[in-house]
Amino acid sequence: MATLAQVEIKAGEVKELGLPVGPVIRVEDVHKYYSLGETKVHALRGVDLKVEPGEFVAIMGSSGSGKSTFMNMVGCLDKPTSGRYILEGTDVSQLDKKALAAVRNRKLGFVFQGFNLLSRTTALENVELPTLYAHMDKAQRLERAREVLQMVGLGDRMDHFPSQLSGGQQQRVAIARALVNRPSILLADEPTGNLDSRTSVEIMQIFQDLNQGGLTVVLVTHEPDIAHFAKRIVVFRDGKIRHDDPVANRPRASEVLKTLPAVDE
Ligand code: ADP
Ligand code: MG
Repeated sequence: MATLAQVEIKAGEVKELGLPVGPVIRVEDVHKYYSLGETKVHALRGVDLKVEPGEFVAIMGSSGSGKSTFMNMVGCLDKPTSGRYILEGTDVSQLDKKALAAVRNRKLGFVFQGFNLLSRTTALENVELPTLYAHMDKAQRLERAREVLQMVGLGDRMDHFPSQLSGGQQQRVAIARALVNRPSILLADEPTGNLDSRTSVEIMQIFQDLNQGGLTVVLVTHEPDIAHFAKRIVVFRDGKIRHDDPVANRPRASEVLKTLPAVDE
């Protein structure tokens, strides 16, 4: 089993030698079983996927097709039952929970449908939270948190509590929190599932801007309109990938927003 120290050295070596980086995500023949009492659910049935740096992938598929199971594995929240998951050149499929958490904190940002913010905590404090594990002093941590909140357009809402923010603003806080440790990949599971259509497109504009800046983005959605803001669409059915296609004529969210009526926040 690889320890975290080895993981870090390997990642460092690749960069120092200037070798071609290769896929950031490489999933090979992954299966996932859940045990439910006597029964076993075969949620992933042989999934293979490569994601290159700078890609923007939308994952689609009907309910129960395995999208969240797949994202949780890619996000190092869970492990495959069999098969390999190679994240930035390192096999993380068999790391223990503690090592997985460390990898997640350093390399990945995760955004959920329900925002998952702490309610008694301001926007700024919510965003600062993941930096507590990084080796930074308080001033640096606050500076980082302010910087990412400004990036998502919430520079004037830092001291607000989640209940004082609209759904779209709460999701921006969650995106800022996901970005604060400067991950190489942003993962999002139905990030617009609780938002109206204009706000959803605003969130997609943030994702497109971040992707334009070089961040790799993988998001799950069941809405075709949302998926088309990505560069590539992967469709799951019954725990397998059934389609994997580039998006032709992908719309710019900033352009689409001009055609949508404004709503009051
Ligand atoms: P999706 O996100 O596409 O709706 P999921 O990945 O959540 O699909 O679920 C895939 C399959 O695995 C479904 O049959 C679901 O009921 C099952 N499943 C998901 N999570 C669990 C769990 N924690 N325990 C048991 N079965 C689960
Ligand atoms: Mg799901």
